[in-house]
Amino acid sequence: MTINIRKVTVLGTGVLGSQIAYQTAFHGFEVTAYDINDEALDAARTRLSHLVATYRDEVSGAGDGKAEHTAAAIVLTSDLAEAVREADLVIEAVPETLAIKQQTYAFVNAAAPEHAIFATNSSTLLPSDIKDFTGRPDKFLALHFANQIWKRNIAEVMGTPETDPAVFRALVDFAGAIGMVPIEIHKEKAGYVLNTMLGPFLISGIELAAGGYATPETIDRTWRIVTGMSAGPCQMLDIVGLNTPYNILLSRGNDKADELAAWLKANYIDKGKLGVATGEGFYRYDTASN
Ligand code: NAD
Repeated sequence: MTINIRKVTVLGTGVLGSQIAYQTAFHGFEVTAYDINDEALDAARTRLSHLVATYRDEVSGAGDGKAEHTAAAIVLTSDLAEAVREADLVIEAVPETLAIKQQTYAFVNAAAPEHAIFATNSSTLLPSDIKDFTGRPDKFLALHFANQIWKRNIAEVMGTPETDPAVFRALVDFAGAIGMVPIEIHKEKAGYVLNTMLGPFLISGIELAAGGYATPETIDRTWRIVTGMSAGPCQMLDIVGLNTPYNILLSRGNDKADELAAWLKANYIDKGKLGVATGEGFYRYDTASN
């Protein structure tokens, strides 16, 4: 089977969808991006214009109008059937709710060409949780990006036992073609490779701080000195945003995790201290980033 990917449709233009659309267009693919209504599309235009500035500042080869041209080349639409009508690859980045993903795939399966490959960017759902809604489990898999795609450039490729190996290979190649380092995952794993390592690391920082064992400054300094890395877990949590570990802890459903979640809520979340984005988390920042 020859798989030729040229036209890519991204579903959802939020934090990750806008980045995926932009990065894909930047590497020369024809990109259509869908969101639910005009308001969401206006937000997408704003996100894309921020990406233009970011790429110009941080990505080589984005000068001479290329960054602007990339944004202008992305077709934005709120017509889902039209968005996928000619797609070779549909990358889904709609909200992390099974019911929304389910409805989206049912509709998209009816409207997309038979040859189109579907890929989910879901962080917490396994592709096996979704595959039966897609109508084409052999052409379905996960393609998982990290936030700030232009510099944290991994794409984790993970199929189900039903994914056609040729589709898996095609997506590994596609990831490389849009400037990602493809991370091939051979068996389904919640958290993929990255979050399987990163999750426990970040939670260990919360555990040490919440238990009063050491201050965030000491925890982070320990990590920085010994590993040579530029940030420790509490610094990284401030960048991720403290709502994310809070939700991860709650989803674990055990007493210890609930205690840590309650500590985060009482000391940070309820006080509006969500990290860099709000100007304060474990640390204070001069200006809020949004
Ligand atoms: P987001 O809330 O920023 O964006 C979701 C977008 O989907 C919104 O623009 C929303 O309008 C749109 N959308 C499309 N169809 C919709 C529908 N039927 N109902 C409601 N909204 C609809 O979310 P995000 O952070 O970009 O996450 C999207 C996906 O990417 C999730 O599966 C998430 O797990 C995954 N992901 C997120 C990150 C991250 O750091 N934010 C990282 C990796 C993967």
